[in-house]
Amino acid sequence: MKVLVINAGSSSIKYQLYDMPQANVLAKGSVERIGEEASKLSQTCGDKTLTKEGHVADHEEAMAMILEALVSDQGGAIKSLAEIESVGHRVVHGGEEFTGSTLIDEAVIASVEKFCDLAPLHNPHNLVGIRAAMHKLPNANQVACFDTAFHATIPEVAYMYALPYELYETYRIRRYGFHGTSHRYVARRAAELLAMGKYDVNVITVHLGNGCSMAAVSQGRSVDTSMGLTPLEGLVMGTRTGDFDPAILFYLADKGYDIKQLNTLCNKKSGLLGISGKSNDMRNLGKLAAQGDTRAQLAIDIFCYRVRKYIGTYAAVLDGVHAVVFTGGIGENSPEVRAKICGGLTSLGIDVDAGRNRGMIGSEGNVSTDTSRAAVLVIPTNEEQAIAKDTYAIVSGTEQ
Ligand code: ADP
Repeated sequence: MKVLVINAGSSSIKYQLYDMPQANVLAKGSVERIGEEASKLSQTCGDKTLTKEGHVADHEEAMAMILEALVSDQGGAIKSLAEIESVGHRVVHGGEEFTGSTLIDEAVIASVEKFCDLAPLHNPHNLVGIRAAMHKLPNANQVACFDTAFHATIPEVAYMYALPYELYETYRIRRYGFHGTSHRYVARRAAELLAMGKYDVNVITVHLGNGCSMAAVSQGRSVDTSMGLTPLEGLVMGTRTGDFDPAILFYLADKGYDIKQLNTLCNKKSGLLGISGKSNDMRNLGKLAAQGDTRAQLAIDIFCYRVRKYIGTYAAVLDGVHAVVFTGGIGENSPEVRAKICGGLTSLGIDVDAGRNRGMIGSEGNVSTDTSRAAVLVIPTNEEQAIAKDTYAIVSGTEQ
C-alpha cells in the first residue's frame, strides 16, 4: 500500500511517499514559501531529484504540484495517482478528543476546526492540507495523526493547572503537550535498543529542534510533558520563551503592549533569538559563541540549563530511568549541547562518555559510559514513518 504523509505548515507542505508495510520511502520533498512569488518544490526519489520554481498561490496549488511531481516522468515515483491508497496527515492539536490516530470524516474535521483556537499557528494549516488532499485524492483514505495523542495518558495531577477549576470545565484549559509522534517514536525505538518491552521502559525523551519539548515516559506511556495548552510552555526554544513568570505579561500590558504584540513577543521574538539578539539557529549560536559572543553563549547556557532542570524533574516523576533519549535537529547533531546538559548528572545515574558522545552526530546509539545507570541514547526522530505506520495500521485494520 502506498501511503502519502503530509505535514502542512503555514507556508510549506512537507511530504513523503511510503511503500507499506515495508516502510520504504519512495519519494520525499517539500513545497516552500507557498503564497510568495518565489515558491519552490524540491523532491528526491532514489538518486533522482526534481525542482520546480514559480508562484504557488495556496495549499491547493501546492498539493496539485506535489501530485504532479510524484507521477512525473522525470524524477517521479509512481505511474498513477490511483496508486496512492491512503494519506496520513500531521495534525497538531487534537484536544481531549483524540487519544490516537483516526480515519478522517466530517466529524473529525469539525473537531480539528474546533481546536483551531487552541493551536492557531498550526491547526488551520493542517486543515487546509487535509482539504486539499481530499479534493485532489477523493478516493484515498485520509488519516489524522495528532501531536497531542501520545500525551493523552498524562494523569490529571500533571495536566491540570492551578487555575480556577471552572476554566477547565468551561474552556478545557489544561496541559495537552505536543511533539507526541516524535516522543512516541523515540520511546518505542529506545525500548528496542534496550531490548525491553515497549510497555516496560521508563525514559525521559528530549526533543530539541526549533520547537523543543520533553516527556516523562513511564512504562511506555507519557505521564508528563513540558509543553502545555499550547507549544509555548516548557523548554527554551528557537524563538519561544518556554517557562516564565506570567506576571511579566501583566507588567508589559501595563506598559502598553497589546495581546497581539505579547503573542508575537513570546512565540516569535524570544528564546535563543531573543536572548542572543542574533539567531534562533543553534549552529549559528555555536559559531558566534566560539568567536567570543557572550550573548550567544548565554543563550546556549540558558537553553541547556532548562533541559537539565527538566531532567531532574522527570527523574523525580519516574520510578527509575532506563534512558534519557535525545532527538530533533539539536539533540541529534550537537554533542556540545548534549554534554553541557548531562555534565554532572552522575548522582542521577546519568553519565555521558565524552568520546562516544563526540562521535554520535546524526546517527543512532548509546553515548553513556559502561557504568552509567541510565543509557543516554541519541535517536534520530522519524515522525513521518510513525504517521505512515499509523495510517497503514488503521486502513488495513491491523491496529494494535
Ligand atoms: P524543526 O523543529 O523545524 O523540525 P529541526 O529538528 O530540524 O527543526 O532542528 C532545527 C535546529 O537544529 C536548529 O536550531 C539547528 O541549528 C539545529 N541543528 C541542526 N544541525 C545542527 C548541528 N550540526 N549542530 C547544532 N545544531 C544543529
